[in-house]
Amino acid sequence: MPDVPVWPKCNINCLFCSNPAEGYRESQDDYTFEVFAKKWSNYLKGKVSYYKFNQVDDFISLTGGEPTIHPDFFKILGFLRKSWPDRDIKLMTNARVFRYEDFAKKCLRLGGRNFEIYTPLCGYNAKTHEAITRTPGSFDDTYQGIKNVLKFKTSTQKIGIRIILNKLQMPALKKMVQFINREFSGIDGVDLIFIELEGIASKNAGVLKMSMKECALEIERIRPFLEKLPRFSLFHFPVCVLPKGLWSYTWRTLDPKKVIYADVCKKCKMADYCVGIHRSYVKEFGLKDFKAFETMPKVVISSNKYHPIVGL
Ligand code: SF4
Repeated sequence: MPDVPVWPKCNINCLFCSNPAEGYRESQDDYTFEVFAKKWSNYLKGKVSYYKFNQVDDFISLTGGEPTIHPDFFKILGFLRKSWPDRDIKLMTNARVFRYEDFAKKCLRLGGRNFEIYTPLCGYNAKTHEAITRTPGSFDDTYQGIKNVLKFKTSTQKIGIRIILNKLQMPALKKMVQFINREFSGIDGVDLIFIELEGIASKNAGVLKMSMKECALEIERIRPFLEKLPRFSLFHFPVCVLPKGLWSYTWRTLDPKKVIYADVCKKCKMADYCVGIHRSYVKEFGLKDFKAFETMPKVVISSNKYHPIVGL
């Protein structure tokens, strides 16, 4: 699943954004259609084109900035779909432009089969959402954008919601889950993603950072509400910081270069099924939260390398 950055600029300004704090947004010349096509062609030839997951080819994630505001976004999407007719294309978008029905319909048509959209949501109303996006009007746009995708998508297309877990987000979490269940019938599910304190987010670490254990306890507390969703997943959590009841929800979705397996992990029987510890977390909190499993707990293991623990 190579992460393919499409466009560096963005039309919101999230406190938790992990894009570089300086220089990246101004680098549009490196993201023209021609540069995109050249990198893609190199990738297909087996050359290193992308920073994250370059070596994987099961699906592709389109990221940014905000991909949909690229001046040639439709040209890029059509080009990719022609190049990869059957494989999954996942679009990471704040969905603001999907508030326009014509845009939503055209994007879904070009995306075709096996096209998935993932949208970050930061609140259950304008006040809570925009306290984090710092962009007036962004809640109404994203809300309507998600509604339009749900209205026009086909049965082979999906839309999921992503919540970036950080200290500012946690007080609204339970109400957000209830809001999603109530408002977005047909949603594929919700990914709860522990914050990566990199780039812009690292500049805001003072207000965003929280320990993984503290975060996991709150998730466990509201698990009955999460289990009412069609699906929920936890990203970026090592197994040992989670209460047992959450183990089967955790996925291994970080590029290996972003994580470390510390000395404590060397004797851990769960290491093969654990995502590892994000480097930015170690910088802020050290290693005190992590504890090896010295004997293998009873778990059901799947063959899915991204989702190895599927039951207890
Ligand atoms: S000790 Fe290391 S490998 Fe084991 S669960 Fe914790 S972080 Fe993962």
